[in-house]
Amino acid sequence: MNKINYYKKSLEELEALPKDKKPSLLLHACCGPCSTFPLTFLCPHFDVTIFFNNSNIYPSEEYFRRLNELKKFLEFFKRDYGYEVKVIETKYDNENYNKDLEKFADQDEGKERCFLCYEKRMDQAFNFANENGYDFFTTVMTISRQKNSQKINEIARKLQEKYGKTHYFFSDFKKNKGIDIAREMRIHYDLYQQLYCGCKFTYEKGLKKEAEKYGK
Ligand code: SF4
Repeated sequence: MNKINYYKKSLEELEALPKDKKPSLLLHACCGPCSTFPLTFLCPHFDVTIFFNNSNIYPSEEYFRRLNELKKFLEFFKRDYGYEVKVIETKYDNENYNKDLEKFADQDEGKERCFLCYEKRMDQAFNFANENGYDFFTTVMTISRQKNSQKINEIARKLQEKYGKTHYFFSDFKKNKGIDIAREMRIHYDLYQQLYCGCKFTYEKGLKKEAEKYGK
Protein backbone atom coordinates (compact mmCIF):
# COMPACT_ATOMS: atom_id res chain seq x y z
CA MET A 1 0.00 0.00 0.00
CA ASN A 2 1.26 3.48 -0.89
CA LYS A 3 2.26 5.56 2.08
CA ILE A 4 0.52 8.90 2.56
CA ASN A 5 2.74 11.91 3.12
CA TYR A 6 1.14 13.19 6.34
CA TYR A 7 3.77 15.88 6.78
CA LYS A 8 2.70 17.43 3.46
CA LYS A 9 -0.93 17.05 4.49
CA SER A 10 -0.26 18.94 7.74
CA LEU A 11 1.26 21.85 5.80
CA GLU A 12 -1.77 21.94 3.49
CA GLU A 13 -4.04 22.01 6.53
CA LEU A 14 -2.11 24.91 8.05
CA GLU A 15 -2.43 26.78 4.78
CA ALA A 16 -6.23 26.35 4.81
CA LEU A 17 -6.70 27.68 8.37
CA PRO A 18 -8.61 30.94 8.89
CA LYS A 19 -6.22 33.88 9.14
CA ASP A 20 -8.28 36.05 11.48
CA LYS A 21 -8.56 33.74 14.53
CA LYS A 22 -6.54 30.90 16.03
CA PRO A 23 -8.61 27.70 16.21
CA SER A 24 -8.49 25.68 19.43
CA LEU A 25 -6.64 22.36 19.38
CA LEU A 26 -6.54 19.58 21.94
CA LEU A 27 -3.15 17.86 21.81
CA HIS A 28 -2.70 14.37 23.19
CA ALA A 29 0.81 14.28 24.71
CA CYS A 30 2.62 11.43 26.45
CA CYS A 31 5.75 13.14 27.81
CA GLY A 32 7.94 16.24 27.69
CA PRO A 33 10.49 15.20 25.03
CA CYS A 34 7.79 14.14 22.54
CA SER A 35 5.93 17.44 23.05
CA THR A 36 8.86 19.75 22.28
CA PHE A 37 8.89 20.03 18.49
CA PRO A 38 5.11 19.48 18.04
CA LEU A 39 4.41 22.49 20.28
CA THR A 40 6.76 24.73 18.29
CA PHE A 41 5.01 23.54 15.12
CA LEU A 42 1.44 23.98 16.38
CA CYS A 43 1.41 26.95 18.74
CA PRO A 44 1.91 29.67 16.11
CA HIS A 45 -1.30 28.43 14.42
CA PHE A 46 -3.51 27.06 17.21
CA ASP A 47 -4.61 27.81 20.73
CA VAL A 48 -3.23 24.55 22.18
CA THR A 49 -4.31 22.64 25.29
CA ILE A 50 -2.59 19.37 26.23
CA PHE A 51 -4.57 16.28 27.20
CA PHE A 52 -2.50 13.87 29.30
CA ASN A 53 -4.27 10.49 29.30
CA ASN A 54 -1.59 7.84 29.37
CA SER A 55 -2.67 4.99 31.62
CA ASN A 56 -0.47 2.76 29.47
CA ILE A 57 2.56 4.00 31.44
CA TYR A 58 3.91 1.60 34.05
CA PRO A 59 4.75 1.84 36.92
CA SER A 60 2.93 4.81 38.46
CA GLU A 61 6.22 6.52 39.48
CA GLU A 62 7.15 6.59 35.82
CA TYR A 63 3.74 8.02 34.90
CA PHE A 64 4.11 10.92 37.33
CA ARG A 65 7.74 11.46 36.38
CA ARG A 66 6.76 11.88 32.72
CA LEU A 67 3.84 14.15 33.61
CA ASN A 68 6.04 16.35 35.82
CA GLU A 69 8.72 16.54 33.17
CA LEU A 70 6.10 17.69 30.67
CA LYS A 71 4.98 20.42 33.10
CA LYS A 72 8.59 21.46 33.63
CA PHE A 73 9.05 21.78 29.86
CA LEU A 74 5.87 23.87 29.55
CA GLU A 75 7.35 26.41 31.98
CA PHE A 76 10.46 26.70 29.78
CA PHE A 77 8.27 26.84 26.70
CA LYS A 78 6.26 29.75 28.11
CA ARG A 79 9.46 31.59 29.07
CA ASP A 80 11.30 31.04 25.77
CA TYR A 81 8.51 30.86 23.17
CA GLY A 82 5.81 32.95 24.84
CA TYR A 83 2.99 30.40 24.60
CA GLU A 84 1.08 29.34 27.69
CA VAL A 85 -0.14 25.76 27.28
CA LYS A 86 -2.43 24.23 29.90
CA VAL A 87 -2.53 20.51 30.74
CA ILE A 88 -5.70 18.52 31.36
CA GLU A 89 -4.94 15.33 33.32
CA THR A 90 -7.12 12.25 33.46
CA LYS A 91 -7.22 9.57 36.15
CA TYR A 92 -4.34 7.10 36.06
CA ASP A 93 -5.64 3.50 35.84
CA ASN A 94 -3.01 1.14 34.47
CA GLU A 95 -4.76 -2.02 35.66
CA ASN A 96 -7.94 -1.43 33.67
CA TYR A 97 -6.04 -0.02 30.74
CA ASN A 98 -4.06 -3.26 30.36
CA LYS A 99 -7.08 -5.57 30.32
CA ASP A 100 -7.57 -5.59 26.56
CA LEU A 101 -3.84 -5.34 25.83
CA GLU A 102 -2.95 -8.50 27.77
CA LYS A 103 -3.83 -10.78 24.87
CA PHE A 104 -0.94 -9.20 22.95
CA ALA A 105 1.46 -9.29 25.92
CA ASP A 106 4.17 -11.26 24.13
CA GLN A 107 4.26 -9.13 21.02
CA ASP A 108 7.19 -6.90 20.15
CA GLU A 109 6.60 -3.18 19.95
CA GLY A 110 4.97 -1.87 16.75
CA LYS A 111 2.24 -4.48 16.27
CA GLU A 112 -1.45 -4.94 17.22
CA ARG A 113 -0.91 -4.16 20.92
CA CYS A 114 0.53 -0.78 19.99
CA PHE A 115 -2.20 -0.03 17.43
CA LEU A 116 -4.77 -0.71 20.13
CA CYS A 117 -2.81 1.44 22.56
CA TYR A 118 -2.74 4.36 20.10
CA GLU A 119 -6.47 3.97 19.54
CA LYS A 120 -7.47 3.76 23.21
CA ARG A 121 -5.73 6.98 24.13
CA MET A 122 -6.73 8.87 20.99
CA ASP A 123 -10.32 7.71 21.33
CA GLN A 124 -10.60 9.09 24.87
CA ALA A 125 -8.88 12.34 23.93
CA PHE A 126 -10.89 12.78 20.72
CA ASN A 127 -14.12 12.21 22.63
CA PHE A 128 -13.09 14.90 25.13
CA ALA A 129 -12.22 17.31 22.32
CA ASN A 130 -15.53 16.66 20.59
CA GLU A 131 -17.61 17.05 23.76
CA ASN A 132 -15.83 20.22 24.77
CA GLY A 133 -16.02 22.05 21.46
CA TYR A 134 -12.37 21.98 20.37
CA ASP A 135 -11.92 22.84 16.70
CA PHE A 136 -9.07 20.36 16.20
CA PHE A 137 -7.49 17.33 17.81
CA THR A 138 -4.10 15.74 17.23
CA THR A 139 -1.40 13.73 19.02
CA VAL A 140 2.35 14.12 19.48
CA MET A 141 2.85 10.39 18.90
CA THR A 142 3.92 10.80 15.26
CA ILE A 143 7.19 12.37 16.48
CA SER A 144 8.40 8.94 17.59
CA ARG A 145 10.54 6.81 15.30
CA GLN A 146 9.14 3.71 17.03
CA LYS A 147 5.53 4.61 16.30
CA ASN A 148 3.76 3.98 13.04
CA SER A 149 2.59 7.36 11.73
CA GLN A 150 0.55 5.78 8.93
CA LYS A 151 -1.45 3.80 11.50
CA ILE A 152 -1.83 6.71 13.92
CA ASN A 153 -3.25 8.98 11.20
CA GLU A 154 -5.45 6.24 9.80
CA ILE A 155 -6.93 5.44 13.25
CA ALA A 156 -7.49 9.12 13.99
CA ARG A 157 -9.22 9.69 10.64
CA LYS A 158 -11.73 6.96 11.60
CA LEU A 159 -12.20 8.54 15.03
CA GLN A 160 -13.04 11.81 13.32
CA GLU A 161 -15.86 10.02 11.49
CA LYS A 162 -17.01 8.53 14.81
CA TYR A 163 -17.07 11.84 16.68
CA GLY A 164 -18.06 14.18 13.88
CA LYS A 165 -17.55 17.72 15.17
CA THR A 166 -13.85 18.08 16.03
CA HIS A 167 -11.51 17.98 13.04
CA TYR A 168 -8.41 15.77 13.13
CA PHE A 169 -5.15 17.53 12.28
CA PHE A 170 -2.97 15.11 10.29
CA SER A 171 0.68 15.05 11.26
CA ASP A 172 4.04 13.42 10.86
CA PHE A 173 6.05 15.48 13.30
CA LYS A 174 9.22 13.43 12.91
CA LYS A 175 9.59 14.51 9.26
CA ASN A 176 11.52 17.49 7.91
CA LYS A 177 14.03 17.29 10.80
CA GLY A 178 11.26 17.41 13.43
CA ILE A 179 12.85 14.49 15.22
CA ASP A 180 16.27 16.18 15.25
CA ILE A 181 14.84 19.41 16.59
CA ALA A 182 12.98 17.46 19.30
CA ARG A 183 16.25 15.80 20.29
CA GLU A 184 18.11 19.12 20.44
CA MET A 185 15.35 20.64 22.56
CA ARG A 186 15.37 17.65 24.92
CA ILE A 187 19.10 18.08 25.46
CA HIS A 188 18.88 21.87 25.73
CA TYR A 189 16.17 21.71 28.41
CA ASP A 190 17.76 18.68 30.09
CA LEU A 191 14.52 16.70 29.96
CA TYR A 192 14.32 13.17 31.28
CA GLN A 193 14.45 10.72 28.38
CA GLN A 194 12.68 7.46 29.10
CA LEU A 195 14.30 4.25 27.90
CA TYR A 196 11.12 2.39 27.03
CA CYS A 197 7.83 3.30 25.39
CA GLY A 198 5.70 3.09 28.50
CA CYS A 199 3.75 -0.07 29.19
CA LYS A 200 4.61 -2.93 31.52
CA PHE A 201 5.19 -5.09 28.45
CA THR A 202 8.21 -2.98 27.49
CA TYR A 203 9.28 -2.04 31.03
CA GLU A 204 11.61 -5.01 31.54
CA LYS A 205 13.34 -4.26 28.25
CA GLY A 206 13.83 -0.68 29.45
CA LEU A 207 15.46 -1.86 32.66
CA LYS A 208 17.79 -4.09 30.68
CA LYS A 209 18.74 -1.20 28.42
CA GLU A 210 19.43 0.99 31.44
CA ALA A 211 21.61 -1.71 33.00
CA GLU A 212 23.61 -1.96 29.77
CA LYS A 213 23.91 1.81 29.50
CA TYR A 214 25.24 2.25 33.02
CA GLY A 215 27.15 -1.05 33.03
CA LYS A 216 25.13 -2.48 35.93
S1 SF4 B 1 4.97 -0.31 23.44
FE1 SF4 B 1 4.13 1.78 23.69
S2 SF4 B 1 2.49 1.99 22.14
FE2 SF4 B 1 2.99 -0.20 22.37
S3 SF4 B 1 1.50 -0.96 23.89
FE3 SF4 B 1 3.35 -0.39 25.01
S4 SF4 B 1 3.02 1.75 25.64
FE4 SF4 B 1 1.52 1.28 24.06
